[in-house]
Formats: sequence, C-alpha cells, structure tokens
Amino acid sequence: MTHPPHSNSAPEERRTVVVVGAGPAGLAVANVLRAADVDCVVLETESRQFVESRPRAGVIEEWAVRELRQRGLGENLAARAQLHTECEFRFAGERFRFDYHELTAQHHYVYPQPLLVTDLVREYADVRGGDIRFGVREVVLHDLETDRAAVSYLDPETGRRHVLRCEFVAGCDGARGVTRDAIPAGRVRVSRHDYGTAWLALLAEAPPSSDCVVFGVHPNGFAGHMARSPEVTRYYLQCPPGDDPENWPHDRVWDELRERLRAAGAPQLAEGRLIEKRVLDMHDYVVEPMVYGRLFLAGDAGHLTAPIAAKGMNLALHDAFLLGDAIAAHVAKDDDEGLAGYSHACLRRVWDYQEFSQFLSGIYHGTASGDPFLAGTSLARLRRLFTSRAAATAFAEQYLGSAPAF
Ligand code: FAD
Repeated sequence: MTHPPHSNSAPEERRTVVVVGAGPAGLAVANVLRAADVDCVVLETESRQFVESRPRAGVIEEWAVRELRQRGLGENLAARAQLHTECEFRFAGERFRFDYHELTAQHHYVYPQPLLVTDLVREYADVRGGDIRFGVREVVLHDLETDRAAVSYLDPETGRRHVLRCEFVAGCDGARGVTRDAIPAGRVRVSRHDYGTAWLALLAEAPPSSDCVVFGVHPNGFAGHMARSPEVTRYYLQCPPGDDPENWPHDRVWDELRERLRAAGAPQLAEGRLIEKRVLDMHDYVVEPMVYGRLFLAGDAGHLTAPIAAKGMNLALHDAFLLGDAIAAHVAKDDDEGLAGYSHACLRRVWDYQEFSQFLSGIYHGTASGDPFLAGTSLARLRRLFTSRAAATAFAEQYLGSAPAF
C-alpha cells in the first residue's frame, strides 16, 4: 500500500535511488551505485553497530566472491575467509567425505555475514562517502507507480518526517521489511512453501570440531556443524516447528549434537557456551515479478530461502549486482535492458536454488520424518552421492551454485 507524504515533513529531497535496508543486498546495491557515481541514499532502521554484529550467514559461493573482488568489495574477505574444498556427511554411524572441489574446481568461502556487512558499510560510507541513515523509523513508500515515487521516514531525534523523492526504490529490507508490503494485493504472485519442520540455530563459543562443514543425517533429526571462526562454530539441530529455545538447555543441546553427529572415527565435539539459540521455522517464498512500478525488490525482500542450503546471502548479492548495474546503465546511457530483464534474471537463479533446497531437505529430514518410505529415499539419495560420479558432480554444481547458466 502507498500513502501520501505526511503533512509535518522536512523539506523534500530529490535522490536518484533510495535503498531501503542495509543488509548484504542493500549495501551491495549502494556500493555499485556509488562506484558508478549514481546518487543514492540508504535507509536502515537499526544502528550501524547492530547491523555490523548481527550473526547469520557464513558460506559464500565462489562466483559471489569473484564479483565482490572485481568491484573492490572483497579485499578483506580474500585475506581472511577460510577456503573450503570438502564437506562431510554422517549417516548410519559412518563418515563420508564429499570433495566438491575435485568435482568442480570451485570452493566455498567461509566469511561471517557481520564481517561482510562491516566491509560493505565501511566501503560505502567511509571510503566512497555514501549517504546512509541509521536508526530511521516508520519507513513508508509512496506513489510507486508514478514518476514521483518517494520514500519517507521519521527521524526519531527531531520527530520530523523526511520525504525523499526518487527515480527508483531498491527494496532490500529483508523478510520482515515494508517494501514488499507496499505492493498492492494482486499485483505480484507470492509462492510459499513450508517444510513443516524447524532448526534450532546455535552459535557456540567453541572452536570447530572438523576442518569442514558436517551434515548429520540421523533418525532423531538433522544436525549441522559449520565453522565460523577459530573461536566460534555454528550448529543446527532439527526440532519441531514453533519449538521454544528454552526447551534446549546447554546439556540437552550438546548431548543431542554428540548423538546426531556421532560416527566411527569422528573427532569429539569441542563444547562451549551457547551465545545464540533460536528456532527457525523452515519456509520459503518467492515474489514474482520482483518489480512493481519504481520499486525493485532484492534479496530476502523478494525471496526467502530457508537456510537449509546456505543460499540466501548469495542470492541477495546476485540480485544486488544485477540491480546496481541495471540502474547505473539507465542513468549513464539511458539503457533500460538491465532493468527490463532484472526480475527474470534474478528469478532463474532463485528458483534453481529453491529446488536444491527442497532436494536437500529430502535428504536431511527424511530419516527423522517417521515415514519409512521417506527415510528409505533419503538414504538412497545420500548413497548415490558416493556411488555415482555423475550424481556427485550434479550435486556439487548445485551446492556451489557453479552452473554456467541458470
Ligand atoms: P537482511 O540481511 O535481512 O537485511 C535487511 C536489512 O533491512 C536489515 O538490516 C534490516 O534491519 C533492515 N530493515 C528491515 N526493515 C526495514 C525498514 N522498514 N526500513 C529500513 N530498513 C529495514 N545465506 C547464505 O547465503 N549462506 C549462509 O551460510 C546462510 N546462513 C544463514 C544462517 C542463518 C541462521 C540465517 C537466519 C540465515 C542464513 N542465510 C545464509 C541467509 C542470509 O542471512 C540472508 O539471506 C541475508 O541476510 C539476506 O540479505 P538481505 O540484505 O536481503 O536482508
């Protein structure tokens, strides 16, 4: 829904682009625009300190790292990220190493999202001198179907509403933002999928207990181990949807992780204090098209991929580079091809990743479903990865997002 600007407004400003949200999507768009000398402003409801420390993703695909580096945004990442070449599946009490680098010649980079966000904020605001306004309130979109589109927000310090007239709005405010809701009902299709399960997402003050990502497929439910840094490790435990994190005290978490990740010859888990513990209900959605009038959605605002396949931040970056380049081409050369094809180009990769997430969910959750048929097919999928090179190569390509085209 759009609203007329508030009467108690500060004088209107004119900007070419208003980017709503300073997550990976918004910050990447803003950096691309800034590099192309396109005038823009970023609005963010949280503080700089908050966005730079919010823990979430950690796995970045090689193509995304390449893009970041080409755009001068990946220097710290290249110096500090861990380079992974394998992952490990544990099932039926055994360990199975999956060497995706050998199959694709590509890597996964492990670089915590807060570090990437910190790099992107610094580059945009401190190095490239970009305008970013933290702590804004009550962000509202206006007149999106006209050439007088605007975004307004309340400045909590002055109590005044600021109105930013613009040519484009980049809706990068994540799954719980306001930009997607500004699209009137019936103007886009929102497809949803619910996996009917949840993950307890944990961050432990403990060193990693393996040199690679580990996936435990167990009759009690899925368990995951992902290094974040030498001191911090992310773990996941499948749990019932809507479960209360308080049902998972320290000892229960570690007992269950040990059980679900148990395998012959596996090193002991290094236990540590749990510094994050929250339940994520596993669901996806896709908005089609990702465009309404002057509003272009990017990242989780346009599509949510449950963290099953570690794809959300990668998709956010993919959208952001396409959108930044498309707006820059429009401004510099009056070339609208990128803008016209934006939604289609994003959605091809989005749907591919959603499909992979579905496939992985079958592997991870089938054994604990209570349905012996799903348990049987889940184990068949797993075994195929270690008996058929063709199946393993296809899996590795999706796991790394390395297909030559989508
Ligand atoms: P966000 O990061 O959500 O950023 C949106 C920003 O908009 C936020 O800063 C928010 O404060 C701001 N905002 C919200 N409302 C407003 C408003 N009204 N006005 C202004 N600003 C607003 N992805 C991967 O690729 N690899 C992984 O390994 C991975 N692991 C994950 C693990 C977990 C536990 C979770 C929860 C997610 C994981 N993801 C992973 C997904 C990834 O974190 C998200 O897909 C990614 O953050 C999306 O980026 P974004 O910029 O679209 O949205």
